[in-house]
Amino acid sequence: MNHFPIFLRVAGLRVAVSGGGAAAVAKLRLLLKTEARIEVYAETVDPLIAAWDAEGRIALFSRPLAQDDLAGLRLVYAADEDAAADARVAALAEAAGVPFNIVDNLEASAFLTPALVDRDPLVIAIGTEGTGPVLARKVKALLEERLPAGLGAVLRGAKALRPEAEALPPGRARRDFWSALFDRAMAGEAVPEAAPLLSDHLDRAPAPGRVLFVGAGPGDPDELTLRARRALDQADVVIHDRLVPQPILELARREVEIIEVGKTGFGPSTPQARINGLIVERARAGALVVRLKAGDPGVFGRLDEEIDACTAAGLDWAILPGITAASAAAASLGQSLTRRGRNGELRIITGQDVDGLADHDWAALARPGAVAAIYMGKRAARFVQGRLLMHGADPATPVSVVENASRPDQRVLASRLGRLAADLAAADLRGPAVIMLGLAPRDAAALAPAPLREAAQ
Ligand code: SAH
Repeated sequence: MNHFPIFLRVAGLRVAVSGGGAAAVAKLRLLLKTEARIEVYAETVDPLIAAWDAEGRIALFSRPLAQDDLAGLRLVYAADEDAAADARVAALAEAAGVPFNIVDNLEASAFLTPALVDRDPLVIAIGTEGTGPVLARKVKALLEERLPAGLGAVLRGAKALRPEAEALPPGRARRDFWSALFDRAMAGEAVPEAAPLLSDHLDRAPAPGRVLFVGAGPGDPDELTLRARRALDQADVVIHDRLVPQPILELARREVEIIEVGKTGFGPSTPQARINGLIVERARAGALVVRLKAGDPGVFGRLDEEIDACTAAGLDWAILPGITAASAAAASLGQSLTRRGRNGELRIITGQDVDGLADHDWAALARPGAVAAIYMGKRAARFVQGRLLMHGADPATPVSVVENASRPDQRVLASRLGRLAADLAAADLRGPAVIMLGLAPRDAAALAPAPLREAAQ
């Protein structure tokens, strides 16, 4: 981000516009929505500006902006539509430390004016850092369409309702009321309906805590399910693994309590009993707990232990499935996980067990056409390779390793069983990776990043 969005107080403060033509009029139209004290500096002005001056909505000065005018100014717009005049105003503002905008000159400006969706007090500012004004307009059109015109009035009404709503217990009950109110507002309903809605919510018994075991998918927020998104939106507490990336956590409400219970193959980890304890404790206190796990919560997620803890505590729970790493990896390879005539069976196995390297039915896995997704398999690669070759697997069997599947830093290593361990060591993959035994990228040359292409030959 080159520009940081903020909402600047201008009520009662001076904002100046230098210029009297169309560019000045356009900015003034926006500024007139505010409570700022607006000053216009220009020798000749559009009749509209003269009229605003006559109505007392702005103060017109029929001379150029001077250095003395800058003291105490909040903002300055250089809207003379003349490069030299604009540069002069910008230099004056810069020297006086007043933020300035040169109309249609993003690069030379200190701030830019976003496209606005105005449902005051709800104001949405849209910016593209100057790269896509057309997109900004499309987004604006989308929001204008979606947000009823009366939304601002509902918000103002809501303010009046706030003292009464305090009668609801803080936390979820109160939030549920506001959520129901704004759902209605978004559907175009007006404020007066709020009072019966509030008394309805006041009569309700407090909702008990609940636990949702939610699959976060392989890492791309777009690969979350709609249910997962909704759960994040409603959660009071999010307890997540280290594998769940920041962009997904950012979808949670701002006030939510976010607890990381680190669990990676190598680093320090939170003991399972402590995780169970946290889940139960928060849900018992009445919270909606989202236990967020990478991929699908039911695949190598120690889900049962946490469900058992909930059941023992008498807590209500549900599982929201997610896209598991194997699905994401196969998609990135352009391959299917099962194929008629090749494999009627897919194995999802782990490289690591509680006791170290995991043992499996190597003979079955060594058969031609076998496909398996090996999770937590990086450190076990040499062992897996040795066992499979020992059981007669062809060293030329394709094996792909997909690191950071679905994420911007995804890497695909196309290898063969006979040199899997060596290729993995050379590739030095640091992120989560799933080893896809029996699958090569459909188009190896196109999919593998340059340094890894050799391995695919
Ligand atoms: N529940 C998860 C698996 C958790 S076990 C799921 O369904 O995907 C952790 C292992 O999952 C990692 O060691 C790695 O093998 C795999 N994994 C998780 N996310 C991954 C990703 N984005 N890319 C590749 N592998 C991933």
